[in-house]
Amino acid sequence: MCTLGVLVVALIVLAAALIPWHRPPAPRSDQLGALAQLPRDQVDRARAFHAELRPGSYGSMAVALLAALVLGLTPLGARLVSLAGRPFGDNWIAQAVFGGLAVVLVIEVITVPLAAWRHVIAVRYGISTQSWGGWVIDLAKAWAVGAVIGGLALLGFYTVVRFAPSWWWAFGAVGAAALVVLLSFVLPVIVEPIFNKFRPMADGPLRSELIAMADRDAVPVRDVLVADASRRTRAVNAYVSGFGPTRRIVVFDTLLKEAEPDEVVSVVAHELGHAKDNDVLVGTVIGALGSAAVVIALYLLGSWAWLLRLPGVTSIGEPRSVGLLIAVTTLAGLVAGPAQSFVTRRIEARADAHALALTGDPATFESMQRRLGTVNLSDPDPPAWEHFLFASHPSTVERMAAARAYARGER
Ligand SMILES: [Zn+2]
Repeated sequence: MCTLGVLVVALIVLAAALIPWHRPPAPRSDQLGALAQLPRDQVDRARAFHAELRPGSYGSMAVALLAALVLGLTPLGARLVSLAGRPFGDNWIAQAVFGGLAVVLVIEVITVPLAAWRHVIAVRYGISTQSWGGWVIDLAKAWAVGAVIGGLALLGFYTVVRFAPSWWWAFGAVGAAALVVLLSFVLPVIVEPIFNKFRPMADGPLRSELIAMADRDAVPVRDVLVADASRRTRAVNAYVSGFGPTRRIVVFDTLLKEAEPDEVVSVVAHELGHAKDNDVLVGTVIGALGSAAVVIALYLLGSWAWLLRLPGVTSIGEPRSVGLLIAVTTLAGLVAGPAQSFVTRRIEARADAHALALTGDPATFESMQRRLGTVNLSDPDPPAWEHFLFASHPSTVERMAAARAYARGER
């Protein structure tokens, strides 16, 4: 309880210190002005697209939550774990790995029809360029990656529980934090290539300009890579991943095709902002502390006898209670979601401000945002409740308004 308290306080202090509380100005009047200048039919089409996606997206969240609650708070999950462990030796290792994976798989499988429905809509609106074959292969790859990482995590967790029955919460917390840090290093180099091919951006004026800008910004970047995103989508994007020796800037090939070189510079300037402010590192540290706190919270929940009675397990440390763990973490994830979105929106707004300052070119920044919104068919000014609950980035009109405010000298 004491350790959990310390972790939570550390999280709050870190968050208070690291979250950019100052939001660069993006006046609503500028937002409405920007919105009025967007072609009406385009805005309508983007809104229609999102209206069609909504039932599938929220339905999927609801179904996943419901399934997790049923598997975790009734004896069904525990029964499934026993059943899945039987063909593999019927011991605790088989139950931990195959039972855990079976519970996750059930939740994944029942949400597949809703994901397929969203795919149909994305294809109809021309966002996805993926055939059903490619879509299924992507899904299988994602499940395979999840099974390997999840299987190892489950095995590690239940091994610790078994050999340190009264101290597993401490080892588990350290292990969960270490796993988050490890994944942050490893995902870009090992997992991303499973889904996309990356090549260094070809030599030429654009590459030279990007490298020169990174130098000017004093941001060490290992490389600028181009991902073959066009194999599955028309959407354009760029991101920075990894930190230290694995940090790289990745640009979608679709962005190079769709956008003017100046706009690509603007996008990369935004990504350099993330690198400069160590946003990946900060996210990793907060994620690591958060997962350590979750492990300890789960341990404390294990003393609630009435909770253990629901699935009919004797302790939260036995593999048969994995459904309960998943139910609690799914619920916690949903509750924490809006706070997480709030933080990422602030971080994204700061990276936008960095891009504006670094390029000194708000006009190109605004045209880039307009293009990003158009190509990606994003709702430029989404409903406030949806934006508040789920949006990871400021809206298109907010970002355009930030450029207009910057151009007037407002910071
Ligand atoms: Zn960003």
